[in-house]
Amino acid sequence: MIILLKNQADQKQVDNLSSWLKSMGFDIHMSVGASQTIMGLIGDTSRLDIDVIKSLEIVENVQRVQEPYKNANRKFHAQDTVVSVNDEVKIGGGHFEIIAGPCSVETEEQIVYVAQRVKAAGAKLLRGGAFKPRTSPYAFQGLHEEGIRLLLLAKKETGLPIVTEIMDVNHLPLFEDVDVIQVGARNMQNFELLKELGQIRKPILLKRGLANTIQEWLMSAEYIMAGGNEQVILCERGIRTFETATRNTLDLAAVPVLRRLTHLPVIVDPSHATGYAHLVKPMALAATVAGADGLMIEVHNDPPHALSDGAQSLTPDAFDDVAKSVFAVRPYACR
Ligand code: PEP
Ligand code: MN
Repeated sequence: MIILLKNQADQKQVDNLSSWLKSMGFDIHMSVGASQTIMGLIGDTSRLDIDVIKSLEIVENVQRVQEPYKNANRKFHAQDTVVSVNDEVKIGGGHFEIIAGPCSVETEEQIVYVAQRVKAAGAKLLRGGAFKPRTSPYAFQGLHEEGIRLLLLAKKETGLPIVTEIMDVNHLPLFEDVDVIQVGARNMQNFELLKELGQIRKPILLKRGLANTIQEWLMSAEYIMAGGNEQVILCERGIRTFETATRNTLDLAAVPVLRRLTHLPVIVDPSHATGYAHLVKPMALAATVAGADGLMIEVHNDPPHALSDGAQSLTPDAFDDVAKSVFAVRPYACR
């Protein structure tokens, strides 16, 4: 971290700042120029509040030269993290997989049928919401425990590990047999939830918040990892912009950006990113070629009658076609 001091900063205050920083374990490198003095801080500044330093009377500006996230940072962990689900399915470090299934688990017939179809098309994990974060309190809220029971049934039928969203930290005991726990966009900064998920040892699929920067997203991953759970998969699902033609705006550049910043696997959800079934295939292909480590795609047996997100859900036949094309372009993926 570099602290630029104001011209003619009061020496006593400079000494105070310097001894305060030293007391926190930092080494300080002073560079005194004719008109400007610069303090270079050496040490782990991730716990330092940059705004407190900026607010000091003698400080002109402060600049971080190191990112505030450590565990998620590629600088401290050069190799790609490979997230392993039950030692069966791997994501990251060259392993690419598709997670597919309905937005919401609705009935046993629905989830088992969709699970069989997506498995036959090449998906290696089954998704399905049991606790649904809906904008309207009058919209379908999910089947809750029953939804998880049905997912486990579909897992038994197909062998596909299951991915489902947690909305409340108090529900954690219900997720005991869930293979990958999803944190949805709306909970990306639910820090108490993230801290609890840091205490368990199972993969977490962390979706990007509706209006969060990549750095904020990585800081959320850091919350989970700081607790000791290193099995985090990042999922780009589109962000809010001024554009209304699509449900969200897919930030595809986030994939190669994250590849440099972090060792964690990055997947893309073209369903929530676009909101329309006909946009899923082009964005799934683009994400694959951009170097994503996987995709999450919503598939429903009867999209017009889906209880949530029907407009963006693919039929099993359409998913079949998308999966084939995705596997066909995989060899051209940027790494
Ligand atoms: C979902 O995956 O069903 C979901 C609600 O996604 P998001 O949190 O990205 O909106
Ligand atoms: Mn959905």
